Amino acid sequence: MSFDVRRVRADFPVLTREVNGCKLAYLDSAASAQKPLSVIEAESHFYQHGYAAVHRGVHTLSAEATRAMEDVRHQVARFIHAASPEEIVFVRGTTEGINLVANSWGQSQIKAGDNLIITEMEHHANIVPWQLLAQRTGAELRYIPITDEGRLNIAKLDALIDNRTRLLAFTQVSNVLGTVNPLKKLIARARAAGITTLIDGAQAVIHQAVDVQELGCDFYVFSGHKIYGPTGIGILYGRKALLDEMPPWEGGGSMIQSVSLQSGSTWNTAPWRFEAGSPHTGGIIGLGAALRYVSELGIDNIHHYEQQLMRYAQNKLATVPDLVIYGPEDRAGVISFNLGKHHAYDVGTFLDQYGIAIRTGHHCAMPLMSHYGVPAMCRASFTLYNTEEEADRLTDGLIRIHRLLG
Ligand code: PMP
Repeated sequence: MSFDVRRVRADFPVLTREVNGCKLAYLDSAASAQKPLSVIEAESHFYQHGYAAVHRGVHTLSAEATRAMEDVRHQVARFIHAASPEEIVFVRGTTEGINLVANSWGQSQIKAGDNLIITEMEHHANIVPWQLLAQRTGAELRYIPITDEGRLNIAKLDALIDNRTRLLAFTQVSNVLGTVNPLKKLIARARAAGITTLIDGAQAVIHQAVDVQELGCDFYVFSGHKIYGPTGIGILYGRKALLDEMPPWEGGGSMIQSVSLQSGSTWNTAPWRFEAGSPHTGGIIGLGAALRYVSELGIDNIHHYEQQLMRYAQNKLATVPDLVIYGPEDRAGVISFNLGKHHAYDVGTFLDQYGIAIRTGHHCAMPLMSHYGVPAMCRASFTLYNTEEEADRLTDGLIRIHRLLG
């Protein structure tokens, strides 16, 4: 199937907007992606025609809403090739998914003297929960450093792993550098040493097909809002055998089997044991529509189009004087840079005047900023609805800012 970006753009109502008198060029999808009409309509249709509390009522609407929600669990399992829908936990997003694992699996498994390995390129969501766990348990947090090119320095891993290493948690694709990490190699190394693995898939699942069984990871997390779905909904995949052993981390309705004031409570089975309270059903329905949208376009077609666009954008940006680009050339989806000595915030503010939306700041990856010795970077992200014309406009805008600011 050929990829018709004009038709794709027509699916996203917001892309027709003007900003500061210019056509919007939305190059900030790595922060959060825009939503196609089918997602907006699916959520709206649910609230107009099918909404009710789930898992509780005997009435028709409740049964329908429950079925719709559980159907999405099956759909997500197929999307990432999980062995069973019971390996899919609905969470608020990547952040909550990682906190769940740190608080449930981590709190029950990690002891003083154990160590956990992350990397220097993680999003704060895959650093801070492990720091908190390490503080609470007396475990040690270690990290794989990166090379100046922005790749994981895998050669250092062997020196980090010892017989007290319990976890290797890392991102599949860096949300700042776009580095695609050698997932299979790292997971295989961890498995050989009996180490549990968690993959932050937030920046990866949008760009390429994911097969958690083929990868062999124990946990995989991603956010709905980055894959064209609603915000406030995300997925934690956990291998069934692990989820079955994990204690609950939040208590409340739905996650129990029985509650007694005299003898305490017993727990529901996984994954429902980890879904206390009323779920974000509207978000779940929207996520189902988003995954359908991506599947219909074809994740491999999306991947191919984005790679072509990234090559084009990189070649164009190479013509901007004094532009420092961070990360390896074979990056996925994002290009981070600084323009001379100008603060990223100033560059982003100027680009906004031309209708170009990029992200500026530390991108929730302060250790990575420290590695490069900068307080902030500009980040342009390219995804399925972006065009070569937008890459041209970004390039022209940067050249103009360079001329203006010197
Ligand atoms: N990890 C990565 C790689 C991300 O890009 C993001 C979102 N920017 C997160 C984690 C956190 O996701 P959320 O804020 O949706 O929980």
